[in-house]
Amino acid sequence: MSASAIRPSGIDGLATPSAFRTAVREWFDEHAPAKGSPQDFSAIHVVTSTTKAEYRARERAALDVTRQWQQKLYDAGLAGRSWPKEYGGAGAPVWQDDVVAEEQSRYGVSTKMMAVALEMVPPVLFVHGTHEQRLDHLPRVICGEETWCQLLSEPGAGSDLASVSTLATPVDGGWSVTGQKVWTSGAGSSDHALLIARTDRSVPGRGGLSCFAMPMAQPGVDVRPLRQMSGAYHFNEVFLDEAFVSKSRLIGELGGGWAVLRTMLRHERAAIGGGTSGRGAVQLVALARQLEGNNDPLVRQTVAGVVARERLLDLLQARMASGPPVPAGGSVAKLLYSEHARLTANAALELLGVSAIGSADATAEPWNERFLFAPGLRIGGGTDEIQRNTIAEWGLGLPREPRS
Ligand SMILES: Cc1cc2nc3c(=O)[nH]c(=O)nc-3n(C[C@H](O)[C@H](O)[C@H](O)COP(=O)(O)OP(=O)(O)OC[C@H]3O[C@@H](n4cnc5c(N)ncnc54)[C@H](O)[C@@H]3O)c2cc1C
Repeated sequence: MSASAIRPSGIDGLATPSAFRTAVREWFDEHAPAKGSPQDFSAIHVVTSTTKAEYRARERAALDVTRQWQQKLYDAGLAGRSWPKEYGGAGAPVWQDDVVAEEQSRYGVSTKMMAVALEMVPPVLFVHGTHEQRLDHLPRVICGEETWCQLLSEPGAGSDLASVSTLATPVDGGWSVTGQKVWTSGAGSSDHALLIARTDRSVPGRGGLSCFAMPMAQPGVDVRPLRQMSGAYHFNEVFLDEAFVSKSRLIGELGGGWAVLRTMLRHERAAIGGGTSGRGAVQLVALARQLEGNNDPLVRQTVAGVVARERLLDLLQARMASGPPVPAGGSVAKLLYSEHARLTANAALELLGVSAIGSADATAEPWNERFLFAPGLRIGGGTDEIQRNTIAEWGLGLPREPRS
């Protein structure tokens, strides 16, 4: 289908939020599957399998669906509305991005397979990147062509990323990077990584760190998948042995990696909090009906609790998008979201009873996947405890915890 054929008519001339929202909603009604319908792919990024080869095949298939959807959004002029035109956007006001995101969350679609590329790297490049770096990446990111991962955590540095020890040593034309990263989501399917490494060993902690846009396809990068309890090989160990990053790939200042990282983490929390895989209220209501539990008062109470929490999350997202800044809002959203994902999956498994144990059961399988995926959501992107610390210190102004 040509771009013009699917573009909401006159989209660039719609100045008021309500006219814009109506056009966007009409477009989604026509082009996006409904939540809970057989075509719903809002949890497509929750990929599981019993073998690495099968996982890679399913991951590729899920990535293809995500890319196609992102391309469709782009062709419709709905991707990156607020980005400058030179980077592929429409140069529109930021509220239009929020309207598209809000409307999209009402349908059975997801771009979470590409969350690092679409939701975390662009803000980092807009704040800290050079014009050339934006030109290099953003036009490919916006239409779903380029994938990214984050090379942050290490065996000795997770919550405390100031302890990162991967070393970037200056060489002709750039840096040679050696060290080990771990828990890297999507490393096997990413074109680039946002890497944090120590560029000055004489400065301990945050000061000696720098961030880079590192190409993943090179001899010094060895990706080894790790198996999760869900059966997924979602994340990986990544061994860096004299991997090369050129000078032009330094993001921000040399030694200024902490500031870049903070921008990335803030957007990561908000992106996870706005996720789709844990938003299962519509599907849970359908499950209760299918299992004929919808007249049982206890089931109704549980399901109503899930529906209410999801509504709360949606309202928080809407407030964060359009109101004044919510202090530590990303951490609040991420905390609520990870709790919601856990409680929704628990409720489904209670409804399913023993049939939840048999993974061959087509109704139970997606809920089993959600159930096993949920604990990871409480850790990835900063653990629940770290979010609580952030909310206490930055949101509520409570005394800071002692820093060593
Ligand atoms: C699904 C998933 C995907 C991930 N994807 C990526 C990725 O793509 N890239 C990447 O770099 N990393 C990724 N991670 C890693 C993740 O960011 C880290 O696991 C996380 O930051 C915690 O670090 P850690 O595992 O080293 O635990 P630790 O930091 O060692 O924490 C251990 C425990 O101590 C608690 N704790 C630590 N410090 C404090 C404190 N100050 N106050 C209170 N409690 C504290 C923690 O809450 C936790 O319960 C992913 C993890 C998961 C589960």
